[in-house]
Amino acid sequence: MLTIHDGQCGKCAHFGEDHPQDEKLVQIRISGRAGEHVLESCGHPQHADLHLMVTPISACEGFTPAKVA
Ligand code: SF4
Repeated sequence: MLTIHDGQCGKCAHFGEDHPQDEKLVQIRISGRAGEHVLESCGHPQHADLHLMVTPISACEGFTPAKVA
C-alpha cells in the first residue's frame, strides 16, 4: 500500500481527470492510500498530448489540489 502526500498525483485534480467520480479515485483522495499497482491518466493540459500515465505517488509542478467530496 502506498501513502500519498500533498503535492502527489493521488491528491491532484488531474489524476484520472476524465473519470473523477470513479470510486477508486475518491477513496484514494479521502484515505491518502492506494494500491501499489494503481496507474492513471494525467489530464493536465500540458501533458494531454503525451497521454501521460502516472502513479498516485508521482508528482509534477502542475499539481492542483483535488476537491475531496
Ligand atoms: S503529473 Fe502533475 S498534473 Fe498530472 S496528476 Fe500528477 S501532479 Fe497532477
